[in-house]
Amino acid sequence: MSQPDIPFPNSPVVPNMVEATHVIQFSCHKGIRCWNACCSNIDISLTPYDVLRLKTRLGLTSTEFLKDYTVPYEMEKDGIAGVKLRPVEGGTACRFMKPEGCGIYEDRPTACRYYPVALLSMRRQDEYVDRDSYAIVKEDHCKGHEVNRRITIADYRKEQGLDQYDELARGWRQLVLKKQSSGPSIGKPSLRSRQLFFMACYDIDRFREFVGAESFGKLFDLPQAEKEALLADDVALLQFAFRFLRQVMFGEESIALNSEAAQERLARAQEIRLVEEREAARRRALEAEQDMTDDGE
Ligand code: SF4
Ligand code: SF4
Repeated sequence: MSQPDIPFPNSPVVPNMVEATHVIQFSCHKGIRCWNACCSNIDISLTPYDVLRLKTRLGLTSTEFLKDYTVPYEMEKDGIAGVKLRPVEGGTACRFMKPEGCGIYEDRPTACRYYPVALLSMRRQDEYVDRDSYAIVKEDHCKGHEVNRRITIADYRKEQGLDQYDELARGWRQLVLKKQSSGPSIGKPSLRSRQLFFMACYDIDRFREFVGAESFGKLFDLPQAEKEALLADDVALLQFAFRFLRQVMFGEESIALNSEAAQERLARAQEIRLVEEREAARRRALEAEQDMTDDGE
């Protein structure tokens, strides 16, 4: 099993895993004495769908949003990148925090919706199927745990609109988990695949230009109508981005190559196999020669 993907990586709380049927006691409401305490000191990782919702809400391109509102971080050493919400200049508070509450409430990120629950996604090696468990985060400043309202995690997720958020970020979570759990067999992704991962997952407007470019059309056999539909719909394009990355990062044939590109790829693979076979034959000959020399001594 890989390490859990915890939306609160720096939390002092060591989580116990629970299922969706687990009942929590919690309520957060205006007037509670810790109002806005959680938003005053943030460490919020964003999913690609969070980025999409926020850039749309703010009327920015994804490139502008990433530059002004986020900071990148490494999800794992030498691995792929994530993005976090950038707090106010010189402080720790969220830029969207208002005295009356969250200024972007309808589009608030996944981690804000889940709090005080944390989603732990895990998967077995070489599987795409991820399994969700949860943890309860209890921090001293949060008085919501003292309010007498009992609710299952499943119902809390519904209340917070998380079904849609999790569903539309699932492809990204699966990529991250597969990368984390495949370890040395896949190796460190090249700079190019890390750049493609960042663009396709977070910078959807640049990814749109990339898919619309002539060079993409030369490589991939994507019917024109399908391409136009993708280019006109951010959410569909994001799901396509995850498909594209399965091909780039793990060599899956998730998008058909056009026949010329497929032939070139096949020729390249044959060339590599030929070089490997020659190298193996050369090694075998050297070993045989060495054995003969040893026998003669
Ligand atoms: S996005 Fe909203 S809920 Fe999340 S930390 Fe900022 S103000 Fe709080
Ligand atoms: S109850 Fe918890 S989540 Fe709600 S405002 Fe207070 S600290 Fe934040």
